[in-house]
Amino acid sequence: MGLNLVLFGPPAAGKGTQAKRLVAERGLLQLSTGDMLRAACKSGTELGKKVAGIMDRGDLVSDEIVIALIEEQLDTHTDAAGFIFDGFPRTVAQAEALDAALAARDMRVNSVIRLKVDDEALVKRIIKRFEEEGRKDDNPDAFKVRLGNYNKQTAPLLPFYAKQGKLTEVDGMTDIESVALSIRHVLDRQSEIAATKKTGFFARLFGR
Ligand code: AMP
Repeated sequence: MGLNLVLFGPPAAGKGTQAKRLVAERGLLQLSTGDMLRAACKSGTELGKKVAGIMDRGDLVSDEIVIALIEEQLDTHTDAAGFIFDGFPRTVAQAEALDAALAARDMRVNSVIRLKVDDEALVKRIIKRFEEEGRKDDNPDAFKVRLGNYNKQTAPLLPFYAKQGKLTEVDGMTDIESVALSIRHVLDRQSEIAATKKTGFFARLFGR
């Protein structure tokens, strides 16, 4: 069974950076709704025209749009070893839709890793990224909106996933290598637990 991981955290927490490492290390597929939407804006599609203004000011695009993007990817990559959801889900409605979309395809979210970074560090990172990449929504006004949306609409997902027993927190304030190592530990421990459960199941089944 594949590994489906939600990388969770505020904007600039390092989700994209860590997702890319996991792609290289574990052959998982990164599904970043932010990247998909930016690509649509860049190529000037109908979707891009519809969402550009919303994204530039730091607001969330509709649940319908991002859920459709994710479902399309799940159906395109049916042979993937697993998915890393990066920047999705961002609302409880999206999380419920993801659970349903995965269940309909005989999959589920296996793990949710929250990268914890305090607001002050996020602001520093955003200033740096704005200088380096020039992303419009990294300007101070849009970033304030994005952080506000995260606290209001996305943070309620923490109890949602904690209740499902899937949430682990990782310190996202350290350097990229250390964060990657912490994530690796979490995933290795979870696959050990899953393997033990499976062994226990067969042992009971065959009386060993
Ligand atoms: P990101 O690159 O994940 O920070 O996303 C950039 C922008 O894309 C966000 O500020 C939103 O405008 C939009 N976006 C990306 N993912 C989502 C999502 N799951 N739900 C709503 N809007 C999203």
